[in-house]
Amino acid sequence: EEADKRNTSYGLFDQQSGEKHARRMHIARSLETAIEKQQFVLYFQPKMKIKSHTIDSCECLIRWFDDGEFISPAQFIPIAEHSGFILPLGEWILDTAFAQAKAWHEQGLHIRLAINISARQFTQQDFVAGIKERLQRFAVPAELIELEITETAIMDDEEFGISVLQALSTLGISLSIDDFGTGYSSLGYLQRFPVNKLKIDQSFVRNMASDKRDQALVLSICQLAKNLGLDIIAEGVEEHAQLEKLKEYNCDQIQGYLLSRPIPADEFEAFLAKGVSF
Ligand code: C2E
Ligand code: MG
Ligand code: MG
Ligand code: MG
Repeated sequence: EEADKRNTSYGLFDQQSGEKHARRMHIARSLETAIEKQQFVLYFQPKMKIKSHTIDSCECLIRWFDDGEFISPAQFIPIAEHSGFILPLGEWILDTAFAQAKAWHEQGLHIRLAINISARQFTQQDFVAGIKERLQRFAVPAELIELEITETAIMDDEEFGISVLQALSTLGISLSIDDFGTGYSSLGYLQRFPVNKLKIDQSFVRNMASDKRDQALVLSICQLAKNLGLDIIAEGVEEHAQLEKLKEYNCDQIQGYLLSRPIPADEFEAFLAKGVSF
């Protein structure tokens, strides 16, 4: 009887991991045709300057509607990274973001677009050349483009990573470290990275209104950034109480549902026209 029970639970585990695998395979296969089928859209989430309550930039976040079914980037981006599809997808994301930057620039909206760059993209030999070429092709001023890169992508090959950051920075592009605090744990590297901004990961922001330890962490990151001459933004800000604390800590910017969820381009324009309501 004991042996039976073990068998059953083992069987269940097996079935679940089998389903997960099948789901991943389905996503990997569907991704291959999703660009042609025009199933991807870029959404935009505003970033607010805490001092002035103005919106000066936004993050571009990809959305995938696979025959009407929404699939989260948290699920498909890692699969695309694993399969290599992130490379053509990354090109699509860059082209789409630059086209939007051009359109808004021509409309006279001064909005910087922050584009997420995956490790596989960042470490391509021709990555910088692709950015440079797009700045020219779309005639977008470099100050309107920001790239969000994770610590781990840069540290994959530190020397190469720093040379890429240096080249991008020379082009006039803004550079942010995304998900700061969750990846590489040594702080020494920060001095050597020519970046402009740290993005405090939302896992530290989530409970910071009530959790003293998260408060201490966020405050320390804000002070660290200031001491290194870096700007600082908190992501995942959902409540006024979090904003109040961040203001106290001299954080520069916030991004989160408190302000707005990621929204399509036309809604973003309407959001800008209305302005921040608090
Ligand atoms: P990320 O770059 O750290 O993006 C922030 C995530 O937090 C987004 O999730 C955003 O919708 C979500 N978020 C923003 N404000 C709040 C809030 O107040 N509360 C909560 N709970 N969440 C908030 P999303 O869009 O699902 O993207 C997840 C991740 O997928 C991103 O994390 C990024 O790593 C990746 N990703 C999304 N779009 C792209 C892209 O265009 N290219 C690449 N390479 N990766 C992308
Ligand atoms: Mg990001
Ligand atoms: Mg992030
Ligand atoms: Mg994140």
